Amino acid sequence: MNIPQSSFPRVVIIGGGFGGISLAKKLSHKEFQVVLLDKHNYHTFQPLLYQVSTGGLEPDSIAYPIRKVLQGYPNTYFRLTEVNKIDTNINCVDTSIGSLKFDYLVVATGSTTNFFGNKAIAKNSMAMKSIPQSLNLRSLILENFEQALLTDDLHEREALMNFVIVGGGPTGVELAGALAEIKKGILPKDYPDLDTRRAQINLVQGSDRILPAMSIKASEKAEQFLESLGVNVWKNLRVSDYDGNIAKTNTETIFETATLVWAAGVKAVGIKGLDAKDYLCRGNRLRVNEFNQVGSFEHIFAIGDVAQMESEEYPYGHPMMAQPALQQGHHLGKNLVRITEEKAMIPFTYNDKGSMATVGRNKAVADLPKFKFQGVFAWFIWMFVHLYFLIGFRNRVVVFINWVYNYIKFDREARLIIRPFKKKYQVNS
Ligand SMILES: Cc1cc2nc3c(=O)[nH]c(=O)nc-3n(C[C@H](O)[C@H](O)[C@H](O)COP(=O)(O)OP(=O)(O)OC[C@H]3O[C@@H](n4cnc5c(N)ncnc54)[C@H](O)[C@@H]3O)c2cc1C
Repeated sequence: MNIPQSSFPRVVIIGGGFGGISLAKKLSHKEFQVVLLDKHNYHTFQPLLYQVSTGGLEPDSIAYPIRKVLQGYPNTYFRLTEVNKIDTNINCVDTSIGSLKFDYLVVATGSTTNFFGNKAIAKNSMAMKSIPQSLNLRSLILENFEQALLTDDLHEREALMNFVIVGGGPTGVELAGALAEIKKGILPKDYPDLDTRRAQINLVQGSDRILPAMSIKASEKAEQFLESLGVNVWKNLRVSDYDGNIAKTNTETIFETATLVWAAGVKAVGIKGLDAKDYLCRGNRLRVNEFNQVGSFEHIFAIGDVAQMESEEYPYGHPMMAQPALQQGHHLGKNLVRITEEKAMIPFTYNDKGSMATVGRNKAVADLPKFKFQGVFAWFIWMFVHLYFLIGFRNRVVVFINWVYNYIKFDREARLIIRPFKKKYQVNS
């Protein structure tokens, strides 16, 4: 890997997401050699992936080169590689470009879509966990309308314009809202010769309310917002099968659709070698103690989505969101310094800053620790918070300009099929 020997202890961080970057920043200029490994050379700001899928933003504006984040940090190295295995006996990571020894290892590999073992859904649905997946979805949505325009078969046309989003968490809600806005503001102008009023957006939620992790008021208001935009909100309904044409559910309800987006669950990204039963939890997460140490290892840590730190308040660990990852990365940085200073580590405590979801223009819900509000003010707060946490000044400016432009013009100009997605819908015979 061409990493020089150093007199400083080597910290290997797997994953340049919110947690990994936050830790690398905290360790910069400290007496460590830091090696950050990621299979992408960029950090992805996942909360805005849905805007890439719906043509509101270009992918470049929500991605940031990891090498640029680390510029100017002494003793810090980045390698573009996928980590395949960890050997805890010899303190070594095995990657696609070779192996590397570590003094401290931090697993910050995040999470991936969880299809709960349903192979048909995994094969035929669309996920939205990465930029390539979001670009696939963007292409598919646009290709469907192009195909709908060409077919004489009304049945096929309706299936092509029928969107089913499974999962009523923030991702599903935000995507459904954005699609509804496209249907209202853009499709009639782009496709004047297609009856786009027949396009359907269905949001399917397994429990009795959308945004179940937020307050009841936020759930109710988000549902009202979605319905005002024409989204069909289905509750207590679970999609059980999808063959690319028909989505079956746990009731008689079925959906004929060319596009099913699966936003109904995530599971941690595990790595071989770190998968012993005594610390592997539900959803593939690694059980960590209050110092983020995995199992009984003193020098192997996990942070962010992949870490499950159980406490009375969070019996299943912290929510798989950006804030716990950022805060754990920052905190672990402090603790690693304390270890080298031979001081006791400080337990991690999560500062819950609340949660938010946006449904569309002027429509958002926010549950902050002291206040809960919905509507225009929540929407402004949502925009401000997302701009603040985006990495890179250029990205903030580009996203801000895009949002202002989209707001004034009721438009989303990135509706481009740059890289066609090969999934031609064929109606079942
Ligand atoms: C569509 C969507 C919307 C979201 N919206 C919100 C929101 O509004 N608010 C919020 O707080 N959270 C949101 N989240 C969740 C939030 O993005 C995650 O909780 C957060 O990214 C977790 O940070 P992390 O550092 O643990 O992992 P990540 O940010 O996922 O980073 C993991 C990194 O590890 C790398 N990696 C993984 N495996 C390997 C390997 N084997 N070898 C090398 N590199 C590897 C990946 O390439 C990635 O860069 C959203 C997530 C999604 C998908």
